[in-house]
Amino acid sequence: MAKYFGTNGIRGKFDKLTPQFALKAAQAIGVYFKRGKILVGRDHRLTSPTIHNAVLSGLESVGCEVIDLGLVTTPTAEFMVEKLHPDGLIIITSSHNPPEWNALKVIDGAGIAVSKERGEKIEELIDGKIELSPWDKVGKTVDFYTATEDHLEDILLRVDVEKIKKRKLKVVLDCANGVPALIGPELFERLGCDLILLNDEIDGHFPGRPSEPREENIHNLLQAVQDSDADFGIAWDGDGDRIVMADESGNFIVGDRVFALSALLKLNEKKGPLVTTVATSKVIEDVAKRFGQEVIYTKVGAPYLSEEAAKGDAVLIGEEVGGVIWPEASLAKDGFLTAAKIAEALAEKPLSAWLSEFPFYYNVKGKVPAEFEEMDAKIKEIPIPESAEKVITVDGVRLNFPDSWVIFRPSGTEPVIRVFAEATSKAAAHALVEKYEKMLGQSR
Ligand code: MG
Repeated sequence: MAKYFGTNGIRGKFDKLTPQFALKAAQAIGVYFKRGKILVGRDHRLTSPTIHNAVLSGLESVGCEVIDLGLVTTPTAEFMVEKLHPDGLIIITSSHNPPEWNALKVIDGAGIAVSKERGEKIEELIDGKIELSPWDKVGKTVDFYTATEDHLEDILLRVDVEKIKKRKLKVVLDCANGVPALIGPELFERLGCDLILLNDEIDGHFPGRPSEPREENIHNLLQAVQDSDADFGIAWDGDGDRIVMADESGNFIVGDRVFALSALLKLNEKKGPLVTTVATSKVIEDVAKRFGQEVIYTKVGAPYLSEEAAKGDAVLIGEEVGGVIWPEASLAKDGFLTAAKIAEALAEKPLSAWLSEFPFYYNVKGKVPAEFEEMDAKIKEIPIPESAEKVITVDGVRLNFPDSWVIFRPSGTEPVIRVFAEATSKAAAHALVEKYEKMLGQSR
C-alpha cells in the first residue's frame, strides 16, 4: 500500500509536504532515476518557490544534473520530456486543489507519470538512508528559459493556423489565476482570435475562482460568453492540463464532452482505439462505435492513462474531467493543444452543432456503506446481467448497457462503495443507482 503517493504524485498541505520532506523526496527521486538528468518545473502556488528550492537542492545533493524549467504549466513541463530527453521530471503543482495544497508530480524519462504502485520504490528510498554524492561530484542546476515558447510553437504546428485565423473567432479565456495565463492568451492571440480574458493575473491565492473548473466555479465565464456574444469559452484547471468549455450560448460543456469531441476529430483523421478511465461517460463508447473502434478502460488516475498511451496503439486518450492526451505530441494531458484542436473545429461550425452529434446522458451518484475489507467480496457477489454489452473489471465493476451504464467501485478514502450511473433520462439513471445500491446493501 502506497504511503506517500496518491493517484498522481505526492500531495499534501504545507505541514505535510514540508521543504524538509520535499528535499528528502527529491533525493529519493534522484536516486530512483539513477542520479541522472532531471527536469524540474513548478506552478505559481505560494508554497511552490520554497518547495522548488528544496527539490533542486535534494536533486543536486545526490549528483543529478538538473534543468530548471522555472514557472511553467504542467503540459509544458511534460512536453519538454520529449524535447530534452531527461531521466525524469518533477513538477511542483497541485493542479486543481485548493491553494493551501501542493504536490510533487513525478514523470519518468519516457514521459509516463509514476503511479502509486511504481511510487512504492521511491517511498522505500524516502524512508531509508540516502547516500549523498561526494563533495566534488555534487550536481548543478542549469536554467532553461524557453520551455513555454517551445511548447507554444509545437502546438501551432499541429493545427491549421491559417484556417483558424480566417474565421476570427471570439473567445473568452479563464486562466484560473494560474500558470495557464503564461501560454493560453498568447496561443489564442497567435490563432488570430478576438480575446476576452478572465482571471489572467497569476496569483497563488486564486482570488478569481477555485482552481477546479466545475460548473459552479465558472459562472463568470459562462456569463461573459453570453454577454460578449463570443463563439466559445475555455476554462483551464490550475495547472493547465485540462479544460471545460462554454458553447456559443454560454452553456457549460463538461469534460467528458470535451474528450468526446476531441475523439471525433481525431477519429475523422486516423482510426484506432480510444483509451479512457472507467469513470468516463458512455458518450466515448458511442463515438468509438461510430468509427468501428474499441474503447480500452483503465483505473482512475492520470498515470494509468499515460501507461496505456505508452503502449502505442491508442489514437487518443482522455479522462472524464476534460484531460486529453494527444499521443503524437506527448504522453501527457495537454489543455492547450486540446483547446487549439477544438478551435480548429470551431472554424467549421459552432460548438453546439458539433456536440449535437452525441447523445446526452444524465448521471446520478450514490453510495453504500461497507467496511474496507468486505468491499471486494460484496462487489464480486453481484450477478452480471445478460443485457450488459460490456463488463469492465479493472477498477470495481462497470456494466455498459445499450443506452446506459453503471459502475460500483470501492472508495479509496471512505468506508463506502460508490455507485454511479448514466442513462438517457434522469429517472433511468436513478433507477439503476437504486437497483445496485440495494443489491450491494444485501450482498454478503
Ligand atoms: Mg491539472
